[in-house]
Amino acid sequence: MRIAIAFYMQETSSFSPVRTTLDTFKLWGLYENDEVLEKSKTGYFRGFMDAAKESAIDWTPVPIIYGASTANGPITAETLSYFEEKITTGIKAAQPIDAMYFGLHGAAEAENAPDSEGYLLNKLREVIGDDLPLVIALDHHANITRLMIDKVDGLVAHRTQPHDPYDTSKEAGRMLFSILKGKIKPAMALKKIPLITHQEQYLTSKGPMKIWFDLAREMETRPGVVSTTTCPMQPWLDVPEGGWSAVVVTDNDLPLAERLSEELADKAWELRDDFLHRESIPAAEAVKRAVDAERGLVVLSDTGDSVYGGAPGDSNCLLKEMLTQQITVPAFVPMVDAEVVEKAIKAGVGETITVMIGGKLDTSFYQPVKITAKVARIGGGIITRISSAPDSITTEANEDLGVSFDMGRAVLLERGSIKIVVSEEVGIGGNNPIVYEHFGLNPGDAKMVVVKTASNWQSFQEYMSEVIRADTPGATMSNLKQFNWKHLPRPIYPLDELPIWPIENLSQE
Ligand SMILES: [Zn+2]
Repeated sequence: MRIAIAFYMQETSSFSPVRTTLDTFKLWGLYENDEVLEKSKTGYFRGFMDAAKESAIDWTPVPIIYGASTANGPITAETLSYFEEKITTGIKAAQPIDAMYFGLHGAAEAENAPDSEGYLLNKLREVIGDDLPLVIALDHHANITRLMIDKVDGLVAHRTQPHDPYDTSKEAGRMLFSILKGKIKPAMALKKIPLITHQEQYLTSKGPMKIWFDLAREMETRPGVVSTTTCPMQPWLDVPEGGWSAVVVTDNDLPLAERLSEELADKAWELRDDFLHRESIPAAEAVKRAVDAERGLVVLSDTGDSVYGGAPGDSNCLLKEMLTQQITVPAFVPMVDAEVVEKAIKAGVGETITVMIGGKLDTSFYQPVKITAKVARIGGGIITRISSAPDSITTEANEDLGVSFDMGRAVLLERGSIKIVVSEEVGIGGNNPIVYEHFGLNPGDAKMVVVKTASNWQSFQEYMSEVIRADTPGATMSNLKQFNWKHLPRPIYPLDELPIWPIENLSQE
């Protein structure tokens, strides 16, 4: 049995002025043919391989393409057409094919296709026909569309935040192999939910998100249910079908799938105001509280500049506060600024430079800040995060399973007690200690560290005393009402009041 394997993964912030190009994909890994299997040994594929082993299926993987970019601004039309071409010609050349597994994010917007995954799936079906079993894996921050549902036999999205790509690809593999063995005949229903919320309640281990995801897991124990998917869409996607989704896959029972997807949608709606609960505090107060904290390491979450949500990572909002408050405790700060890297390298290690830093990519939210600092070290390049626990996959390992990225050239700047890692490329924006360790720094020595994420600070767990979410502006800010929404289906809560629920077929035309 020959199973085609492809990956196309990127999460878009519609509000980022930066564009995602093929070069962006290359910084994280863009592979074709056999290289896909050699180099994509991340959780996104290992779980699928393990499911194949478990099902004892006799198969040959037929790798087509692997492209996974960091979250970023919209994908250029040229880049999407590159994937379309590679996928369609790759599949044609690889015939005969018996099934396909396609790893997607689900919230990738292209300049010419707001639902770029649906677009690719449609193009794919034109080549493989309607009958070939096709299962996709998604990030649970996906925006699931009608088109996506129409073009696939089944889907599985992450079940936890932090993400669990290993488990997700394993579940998707199990589903595909069950279809191929004739054990199930999937029937699938999608219910859109007219809801968009900030990311401060996105952890699935607590609060309303736990309640919602737990219900989905409980449903999977009910007779006839194959899989359930709850997708709180990442909240910076300004597209015509944007909003949360609930999907249920049953064994040949469409009415059951429809009923349960509605039950999941109703539960999210019931919890809507809990999802909107804010924890972030003003930047000045956040820095002050971190300085005053009894002990470190305080994780300062720069919610408005979450690189995992597609922001550019060059907000200097918290750095500016540290300079204004003239802090004297050790602080680690990540920054993306190619110009500063160039100047620092030219000046050389040990030299002091005065530069304008940050605020150059996303000029609508912040301006460059003047700083005088010493060039302490020069480094950068490809950084690899490898998990050491392939057998017992923990949630954290799921997230970290062998991801490598290119941060471009990078320098360590020192300004008093503030240490700034400045990179040419965004990479993971300082969201993993390895970015600092690379420069010989130990996060355990710092009082505070700025992370460019509102939820994914788990890599700092061993050092961390507390997390303070700062209410900062930017392409991923929590104050969703401040964005200039143009394409979202309206009405949508909480941008609009929605007194009646359920609203039949809302955003499903
Ligand atoms: Zn996600």
